[in-house]
Amino acid sequence: MKKIIIAIDGYSSCGKSTLAKQLAKKLNYVYIDTGAMYRAVALFALQNGFIDVDFFDEKALIQHLDKINVSFSFNAELNTSETFLNGKNIEKEIRGIIISNLVSKIAKIKEVRAKMVELQREMGKKKGLVMDGRDIGSVVFPDAELKIFMTAAFEIRAKRRFEELKAKGDNTSYEAVLKNIVSRDDDDTSRTENPLIKAPDAVVLDNSNINQEEQFLIVMNLVNEKLKS
Ligand code: C5P
Repeated sequence: MKKIIIAIDGYSSCGKSTLAKQLAKKLNYVYIDTGAMYRAVALFALQNGFIDVDFFDEKALIQHLDKINVSFSFNAELNTSETFLNGKNIEKEIRGIIISNLVSKIAKIKEVRAKMVELQREMGKKKGLVMDGRDIGSVVFPDAELKIFMTAAFEIRAKRRFEELKAKGDNTSYEAVLKNIVSRDDDDTSRTENPLIKAPDAVVLDNSNINQEEQFLIVMNLVNEKLKS
C-alpha cells in the first residue's frame, strides 16, 4: 500500500494534534508533534537559565544546542506518544502556560529551527507519517502529498484549550489562555525564519463550526483520494 506524508499546519490551539493523532491511528502511521520539539528546547533553555519572562540569552542557547536530545516514546497505558528531553519524560511540563509563553521566542531562532527541521526530515524518510506544526507543508516537507492548514476563531480555540487544561487540573484562567494564543499567533506569523504561512497547495480547514468527527471524515476523504492517485 502506498505511504504518504500528511503535513498539518495552522494557528495555535486549532486541534492540529487531535486530528493528526486520529489520522495516524487510522492509517497506522507515525505521528510527530513538532510543537513538542520546540517546547522541549524552551524547557531546556529555562532549566539552564538561558531564558525567562524578562530575558533571553540566545547565544548561550545556540552554544548548547548539541546538548539537546528530543525523542518520543509511545505510552501504551495512556495510548499516547510522550516527549522526552535527554531521556527524561517532560510531557506534562511542556504543556503548561510557562513554556507556552516562552516557546515562540525560542522558535524564532534560526539555529534552533535548522536543528529541528533536520531531525524532522530524518523522521519522514520512510513516509507513512503525519506531522503537525507551523512550517511542515511550507518548509519541512514541501513535497508532502497532503497538506492541511487549520484555523478557527480565537475565542473558540481559547475556550477549547482552557477546558482541556482544566480537565488536566491546570487552573490557568481563560483570559491568560486567550492572551497566549493571540500572542503566539502574532509571533509565529511575523517571524523572519520559517513563519507560519499557508503553503499554496494546502487545503484550508476552518473547524470553528464542525466537530472532531466531522473534521476527521473530511480529511480522511482527502487522504483516500491521495492514496488512490
Ligand atoms: O504546536 P504547539 O502549539 O505545541 O507549538 C508550540 C510553539 O512552537 C508554536 O507556538 C510555535 O512558536 C512553535 N512551532 C514552530 N514550528 C513548528 C511547530 C511549533 O515554530 N513546526
